[in-house]
Amino acid sequence: MLDRAVSDNELTAWDRDHFFHPSTHMAQHARGETPNRIITGAEGVYITDRNGKSSLDAFAGLYCVNVGYGRTKIAEAIAEQAAQLPYYHAYVGHGSQPSITLAKMIIDRAPKGMSRVFFGLSGSDANETNIKLVWYINNVLGRPEKKKIISRWRGYHGSGLMSGSLTGLAAFHNLFDLPKPPILHTEAPYYFRREDRSQSEEQFADHCAAKLEELILAEGPDTIAAFIGEPVLGTGGIVPPPRTYWEKIQAVLTKYDILLIADEVITGFGRLGSMFGSDHYGIKPDLITIAKGLTSAYAPLSGVIVSEKVWRILEKGSDEFGPIGHGWTYSSHPLCAAAGVANLELVDELDLVANAGSVGAYFKQALTDALGAHAHVGEIRGEGLMAAVELVRDRDDRVFFDVSEKVGPRVVAAMLENGVIGRAMPQGDIMGFAPPLCLTREEADVVVSAAAKAVKSVLG
Ligand code: PMP
Repeated sequence: MLDRAVSDNELTAWDRDHFFHPSTHMAQHARGETPNRIITGAEGVYITDRNGKSSLDAFAGLYCVNVGYGRTKIAEAIAEQAAQLPYYHAYVGHGSQPSITLAKMIIDRAPKGMSRVFFGLSGSDANETNIKLVWYINNVLGRPEKKKIISRWRGYHGSGLMSGSLTGLAAFHNLFDLPKPPILHTEAPYYFRREDRSQSEEQFADHCAAKLEELILAEGPDTIAAFIGEPVLGTGGIVPPPRTYWEKIQAVLTKYDILLIADEVITGFGRLGSMFGSDHYGIKPDLITIAKGLTSAYAPLSGVIVSEKVWRILEKGSDEFGPIGHGWTYSSHPLCAAAGVANLELVDELDLVANAGSVGAYFKQALTDALGAHAHVGEIRGEGLMAAVELVRDRDDRVFFDVSEKVGPRVVAAMLENGVIGRAMPQGDIMGFAPPLCLTREEADVVVSAAAKAVKSVLG
């Protein structure tokens, strides 16, 4: 166990002096101006910090602790696997029982037509794999010019070199010389922020599909290999697609023989109230990115699920060119796979997919009852257990606050004071919620009451 005798002051000093935190204002943190909250334990939907303060985690860590905290079944599965076989690689056909079992469990749950799983460790590396597979496929098919990949503004697909390029958020590009070619971006399916406010949802979906087709034609269809999208935009604002969006996008992709990658890092394994977002919206992907809910973050594990159609091309590639030159030391790490098997069993045992659907609907309605009429609430949206409250200066004229006012971060900070963790989404004044899928109605009420109190305390 870690040395618990270390004093708070020491730990804070070590943190400020030696820990390079991700997605953090480095100078402010080093100067002690940002929170230095050290989390020590968690149970159910609550986390506890070193000062003994407990908070309801309505963001499931980073949309990932789907089964909730404190699940000893997963902890024991990891411990047993560590004692029996902590590691062996999966290169050249090797495997372990948990990794093989998990692949089978994933395919049993995946949308129709999916066939094999390649394992990684993070959503970002899984999307790097996706890009490489798409390029490999088009090289095998003898069309080396078909390599560009279209993503969407406000999409989030990771922060690697190419996965960060797929991401469509300025904060992840600025100063890193991203995005890199051949990544292109098209319009975000963000109905609330549409330019032409006279458009219905269906008309806006037509508009998004037309913009996509315009880009494909301008670049040349023979140069476009794939399109990537999250079934529901996540970090870009928690935005469910406008009605008919996916069928219209899919029709354009089919017309130009463009592969579809569904990034289900957040939506995979139940968050929307369906096992996969692709099934929820009738999307027929060629490749699916998974991570987060695969192990509920008890251990890091991601994957790319490939369709049978894609698999056939990969097989042809290795028959012609030899073994695929792609893999990580920790692909299908046995400890992480053991966590994944136990986690997916729990999702079934606790009926969490159905719970996400029913408690999600209850939660959205409760948010709407509490905040729907507030003068500064522009929109309350969500699907399953993903929800957002978008704050605006003027709801009738849809005037946004100036970023410098930091309205979103202030409201989310006030909510934390009320004992509930949400997330100020990075682009806009958006309160984001993605609680564990085991959330009860009573816990949803706690979240809603803290959110409503926070909005009122900051905005009146
Ligand atoms: N894709 C999506 C949709 C995500 O939400 C995320 C992470 N929030 C990623 C990819 C990247 O995952 P990771 O942070 O594990 O690299």
